[in-house]
Amino acid sequence: MGRYTEAVCRLCRRSGDKLMLKGSRCLTAKCAMDRRSRPPGEHIRQRRKLSDRGLQLREKQKARYVYGLQEKQFHRFFSEAERLPGVTGDNLLSLLERRLDNIVYRLGFADSRAQARQIVQHGHILLNGKKTDIPSFLVKEGDTISWQEKSAGTEYYKQIAEEIKSKTTVSWLRLDKQKLTGQVISLPTPEEIEATLDGKAVVEYYSR
Ligand code: SF4
Repeated sequence: MGRYTEAVCRLCRRSGDKLMLKGSRCLTAKCAMDRRSRPPGEHIRQRRKLSDRGLQLREKQKARYVYGLQEKQFHRFFSEAERLPGVTGDNLLSLLERRLDNIVYRLGFADSRAQARQIVQHGHILLNGKKTDIPSFLVKEGDTISWQEKSAGTEYYKQIAEEIKSKTTVSWLRLDKQKLTGQVISLPTPEEIEATLDGKAVVEYYSR
């Protein structure tokens, strides 16, 4: 499955937004957006004004970058969101949030979604007690997320167990910091999803 190999900080600069693609590094002075927020290759002082179409494209790309998806994968999510009852933009963001790699990230088992994807792909995660190594797998209400027994002996696991003591998770997940397990207590509502993403603009982009 394809994924971004481009330097991710360029994606933030291109979007004109801090997309937090590098985990805790994004909160340090090393953040490229804090140091140099102009889009790559743009040397003039002022950014050109974007058309409506340009703004919609930018919102679509932002959502794609945040979840680390190629256009084809992202469009598949959009098609599924369209098929579901309700507001397509909200459905889209809800589906993206339900990806297993996103859940691993939200629970604090990884510093970024990219790292969470690797953890899942390497088979460290159990979904309802079964090894699941598909990052795009969609969780549902009641699902439990835990670690493979052999993964619990790794240095990484010990580090996460320590770091997680000071972390919190989103309202629709339950995190057991002692056992390092999580549960989906409900599916995310639009209010509970990343406020910086605009599902409506994504729908408008694809509706042309
Ligand atoms: Fe974006 Fe994080 Fe890079 Fe800053 S450090 S530009 S927020 S990925």
